Amino acid sequence: MTDVYSIPAEIAKSAWIDQKKYTEWYERSIKDPEGFWAEQGKRLDWIKPYTQVKDVSFTGDVHIRWFQDGTLNVAANCLDRHLATRGDQTAIIWEGDDPAESAHITYRDLHERVCRLANAMTDLGVKKGERVTIYLPMIPEAAVAMLACARIGAIHSVVFGGFSPDSLAGRIQDCDSSLLITADEGLRGGRKVPLKANADKALESCGSVKNVIVVKRTGGTVAMEAGRDHWYQDLVEKAAPTHVPAEIDAEDPLFILYTSGSTGKPKGVLHTSGGYLLYAAITHQYVFDYHDGEVYWCTADVGWVTGHSYIVYGPLANGATTLMFEGVPNYPTVSRFWDVIDKHKVNIFYTAPTAIRALMREGEAPVKRTSRASLRLLGSVGEPINPEAWTWYHRVVGDDRCPIVDTWWQTETGGILITPLPGATALKPGSATLPFFGVKPVMVDAEGKILEGAVEGNLCIAESWPGQMRTVYGDHERFVQTYFSTYKGMYFTGDGARRDEDGYYWITGRVDDVINVSGHRMGTAEVESALVAHPKVAEAAVVGYPHEIKGQGIYAYVTLVADEEPTEELRKELVNWVRKEIGPIASPDLIQWSPGLPKTRSGKIMRRILRKIAENQHDTLGDTSTLADPTVVEDLIDNRMNRV
Ligand code: ATP
Ligand code: MG
Repeated sequence: MTDVYSIPAEIAKSAWIDQKKYTEWYERSIKDPEGFWAEQGKRLDWIKPYTQVKDVSFTGDVHIRWFQDGTLNVAANCLDRHLATRGDQTAIIWEGDDPAESAHITYRDLHERVCRLANAMTDLGVKKGERVTIYLPMIPEAAVAMLACARIGAIHSVVFGGFSPDSLAGRIQDCDSSLLITADEGLRGGRKVPLKANADKALESCGSVKNVIVVKRTGGTVAMEAGRDHWYQDLVEKAAPTHVPAEIDAEDPLFILYTSGSTGKPKGVLHTSGGYLLYAAITHQYVFDYHDGEVYWCTADVGWVTGHSYIVYGPLANGATTLMFEGVPNYPTVSRFWDVIDKHKVNIFYTAPTAIRALMREGEAPVKRTSRASLRLLGSVGEPINPEAWTWYHRVVGDDRCPIVDTWWQTETGGILITPLPGATALKPGSATLPFFGVKPVMVDAEGKILEGAVEGNLCIAESWPGQMRTVYGDHERFVQTYFSTYKGMYFTGDGARRDEDGYYWITGRVDDVINVSGHRMGTAEVESALVAHPKVAEAAVVGYPHEIKGQGIYAYVTLVADEEPTEELRKELVNWVRKEIGPIASPDLIQWSPGLPKTRSGKIMRRILRKIAENQHDTLGDTSTLADPTVVEDLIDNRMNRV
């Protein structure tokens, strides 16, 4: 039996959406999507109001257009329209890597900074539609740069500051950026990251870049190339503090963002202006039940879509106070997240399972020594959250008081698609629960047959929603192939899911990762969750490998909690444990002790690499450019279990 956590009365009382409203709105949004979205679109300020709501085809000439005859400016929606009512309210709380450094930036101040940079970029000749690559640490200038692009209609491509020169170069070349915005150095966990030096190396192979704007973050010495490189501070000082926002078509591109690369070569996901902003804003308000005056903190990096939609665009469009954190969860101590929550009185906290599992390894004491009394709501995103990690997050971090919204979505979806709404949805640990307004999930089998009721299958979305990606930049054919060719007339997510008797969705992992043991199909998430439920296991990753008798065997990589020693006995104990938790069919054939797991720079386990090692094919690992720490892989290869 799964535990069910009912909606706390306190939350239900004040929530934007209660159960009744959820049902009513959801039904309406599915029966009459045009009417529903036509109404919701009014939450934005349009320069020229739209008369057409939706023009979409998932077959033939695949195209997705929302509000296409409307015009607006995204930055003006995030800034200018708030000035009269909340100019002096804090828009961004910035918390530095060093706990002694933080800042509050008001809407008025942010507006002026964006105007200055927009003017400076225009002076450098940047035009509407040109691509601008942003390679910055988590400093306010990252948000300023994104919004300045939006203000003039340039298309930004944010590249995570942890990426190498080669990865940066590939992303600049793919979209032919003419401008790069970077910093002298970044600062993470007390260590300096040589951003400008990396950029210089990348630019050796990027002829398209005419100008580089460099933010002074640490003051470290960097090379500046005359004519090409400009100090940010010099440019904005000289630029005018006001700027008339450009009139942008709803379907003009807002940004390109390369996916995190868990499954292969990153794709340049293209999002446009009107539909994306609307969807980011509406989901931010209702999923996080955001109320005026609250402090909201999403710990993602702006280099990921989570940072785009839920640090910058959604919160600012809603006039929220959004916290931006430069550092890491374990610096200077493993209490850092909780200390920041107390310091800035954070009400809503949104992070990833990888961070929760890492902090869980450290035990309860570092959490419990902090107050966290301001917290009202918790969120999770990025991977399936194991029930064990979920209950720890709920009990230890949230003191059994705060609902958890487990939000399922993708770079491609622009915003959250499957999620609880805190005032409307009873929670089940490990389930992303129910679809957001306008989202129509369908479960299909391998042949594309639509499955009804409580089933397991491949997750598709049958109808478009405004935040949906429009194309793969420069490669529409790849877009059609990747998302619309597997199942006719539907968007294929690439994820597998189970739908239970209450209609709740449980993401079981990527479809490519499904294991087939003696004819039984199994998602990786379930086996991993069983392993993580063992008190001595901190993290686990499970993949299939060729097995003579069963077709596929189960290969588990297991990281133990701090101070636990790997022994043969424990190995047997874990096999029996999984056998008891799920059944004999799921018991691991091989368990490899893994001090660390290969992860993308956004913290996701890269099972595709683990699969290669398990198959004894570590010579052909494929694209490893998004790997956070290559030494982890070397250790895993050295100690692999399947040496055939
Ligand atoms: P790539 O597409 O390049 O392989 P990626 O899929 O990791 O990389 P993202 O768009 O950042 O890139 O991640 C989206 C994926 O993350 C989803 O398809 C899903 O597999 C997983 N995911 C995100 N949120 C959740 C969640 N709440 N529960 C389960 N899985 C999630
Ligand atoms: Mg993906």
